[in-house]
Amino acid sequence: MSPLFRYSRWLSSFKNPQSQKKQLLAFSAFSSEAANEKPRPPPIRVGLTESAGRGVFATRRIGAGDLIHTAKPIVAHPSLSGINTVCYFCLKKLNLTDFKSHSVAFCSSECEVNAKVFYDVETKEDWQAFDDYCRTQGLKYPLLVKRLACMVISGAASAESLDILLPASLSRDMILEMEEGFGLLRSGFVKANIADELIAFLTKQWYINMLARIRINAFRIELAVGLHEDLLSSAAACIEAEVAVGNAVYMLPSFYNHDCDPNTHIIWIENADARLKALRDIEADEELRICYIDASMDHDARQTILLQGFGFECNCLRCKSGD
Ligand SMILES: [Zn+2]
Ligand SMILES: [Zn+2]
Repeated sequence: MSPLFRYSRWLSSFKNPQSQKKQLLAFSAFSSEAANEKPRPPPIRVGLTESAGRGVFATRRIGAGDLIHTAKPIVAHPSLSGINTVCYFCLKKLNLTDFKSHSVAFCSSECEVNAKVFYDVETKEDWQAFDDYCRTQGLKYPLLVKRLACMVISGAASAESLDILLPASLSRDMILEMEEGFGLLRSGFVKANIADELIAFLTKQWYINMLARIRINAFRIELAVGLHEDLLSSAAACIEAEVAVGNAVYMLPSFYNHDCDPNTHIIWIENADARLKALRDIEADEELRICYIDASMDHDARQTILLQGFGFECNCLRCKSGD
């Protein structure tokens, strides 16, 4: 299992009822505002920080609870364990009856059309061996690489789509572990009779480069939809809200730096579209930061995970204070 398996970017906590209640209020405040407000460009800019490379900054004052911006994934994929419970494109929760005899389903004709960018290529081959490899090894990121590869083959994405994102540094062992997945992916497309020139981009180096970026930039998606509906009536909603439906990579959200006491968080309400929300009042020019991990962990646990998982030592104010 990848050492990062448990450490992908973590959804800000919905764990205690108090914070859930606050979330619900924030959601309803947002929807009434949204109805009256004209769309404005997001109040952010990407710039250089003093010590953490690039970061995202507020261009004006942002109020606590405000929606800062939304982001659609560059690529998203359901968890294999939940593949028969969500839309194969947008990861929205579905009813069992939506699946009929099919192994995957879409929530709408719009998603079915949007999915053509990967689905038409993907369905030329039976991916059992590749899926088994991911399932038995507990891997989720190769599924994102496969979907991206299908998008490149269909002409919907560039092979360089993720190059702007920072890569993880990989050990030689990690790279060796990736060879099997690369072999299975490449041979799947060969068996599907995809023309050589269309898969010329799919080299071992490309596969490794994509995984290196996805490892530290993928978000684990946990939908808050159950929470929204039965928050006050059902304790089961808390459990449901904890379940990851899949993983996705975004452009702008990947530029946010980490803080163990963040001023911004990322949430998913009904599908893989990310919403960046202010957790407190933010002044113009202040850097917006999210928490990549479970902020409820103690100082040493956070430092270990950030170093092993993301390759940096956290120097945020909370860490400096020893909390
Ligand atoms: Zn959908
Ligand atoms: Zn910190």
